[in-house]
Amino acid sequence: MQIRNETSNNEAGIIFTGCSVAAAMQPQQQQQAQAQAQTASRRREVMVSGRRVKTIDVHAHCVVPKAMALMGRSPGGNESRGPGISEVGMRRIGEMDEQGIDVEAISINPFWYKAERDLVEEVIKVNNETLTEWCAAHPDRFLGFASVALQFPDLAVQQLEHAIRKLHMCGVAVGASVAGYEFSDSKFHPFWAKCEELGILIFIHPQSTPDLAPRLKGNGWLANTIGNPLDTTIALSHLIFEGTLDRFPGLKICSAHGGGFLPSYAPRSDNCLRVAPDMDTGVKLKKKPTEYLRQMYYDTLVFTSEALRHLAAEVGVNQLVIGTDHPIPWEDKSVDHILNAPGFTDDERRAMLGETAAKLLGIKL
Ligand SMILES: [Zn+2]
Repeated sequence: MQIRNETSNNEAGIIFTGCSVAAAMQPQQQQQAQAQAQTASRRREVMVSGRRVKTIDVHAHCVVPKAMALMGRSPGGNESRGPGISEVGMRRIGEMDEQGIDVEAISINPFWYKAERDLVEEVIKVNNETLTEWCAAHPDRFLGFASVALQFPDLAVQQLEHAIRKLHMCGVAVGASVAGYEFSDSKFHPFWAKCEELGILIFIHPQSTPDLAPRLKGNGWLANTIGNPLDTTIALSHLIFEGTLDRFPGLKICSAHGGGFLPSYAPRSDNCLRVAPDMDTGVKLKKKPTEYLRQMYYDTLVFTSEALRHLAAEVGVNQLVIGTDHPIPWEDKSVDHILNAPGFTDDERRAMLGETAAKLLGIKL
């Protein structure tokens, strides 16, 4: 007997429950099959003008407890902020189904940039192998971004090559700076060259701005509220102004949180050296600073229709992809945010919901 769940697509909705199959199942397998059937029944299928769209989230988190333990850390704070962050399985799929998210490209925020070489080699190995294994159990729902030890760029190059070519991970996740060094520092050039050669997506996720910690104390969680978007803004500004994006024009960079504050106030970057030519260090850019914004990608985690409209106006609608921050509960209406924002065409909505991310991550539609 074959049951096709009415609310599900071909990919995930067919469950075999023939008597002989059921009889052969162990209780645990039966439980899992039931859980899958229940989950499938709640799955929200996103349509645009009557056409099913595969929705892809590029900004979803997890942690690997075993890798954290190597550095004497536990998932504690991550778990309390994002329940289920240590799991990549049915719980996560159930939540994605409710939100209408078909695929998550999962990343692990770097906490290892100050670790010694031997230790960080092990941390990255555990992260990448574990995330790959977790994703492989549900290949139609999860992809994993590679972790790399960017404080040792030569090692990061090797780790990246292994993660992409052998583990088939979907791209690489990085912070917004590396133990006090900006991404534009020449020591990272070999790493950007490798990313460009592999043609992979680089997902930048900020880590607050530690230098400003004393000013970000107090009410409002300013270390995140302001610190995170500012961290991304600084990272992208250096990549632009130091000529890194001219040197590596093929880089595919996607930033969390709509690129932080940079797209909100982009034209200031075009006017700074006109006002203060004495601050020009001699880097000759090939384009106006704001033009570089249009060759990068950004998630849509900006909360309001007006913010999304402005982001699209500054960077181009085809540069936008869904970011939920799941399971950290910043936004559980990412799909509606895109479907309901006025002023976009159906093609543009489909691009933001999944088509652009599919191209960047090599997902078949
Ligand atoms: Zn995040």
